[in-house]
Amino acid sequence: MDHKKEVFSFGANKKWLAIPAATRKELEHNVWCSHCSDVVQIVDFVVKDSPPEIALEGKCGKCGKKVARFID
Ligand SMILES: [Zn+2]
Repeated sequence: MDHKKEVFSFGANKKWLAIPAATRKELEHNVWCSHCSDVVQIVDFVVKDSPPEIALEGKCGKCGKKVARFID
């Protein structure tokens, strides 16, 4: 079985936490949801490695559908 998608990435999380809290909040509130066709807040997200960046993967705060945001 492939549980790769469920693996929490400590490396990615470290990079995420290295970003100032205020900037992180801004990024969390500035995610494009293609379902809402709007900028929304990402909720219930996890931080993943997506070399050379990291990615936030979670749900749209409005409609609950999957959204993701890359951070470079
Ligand atoms: Zn949405």
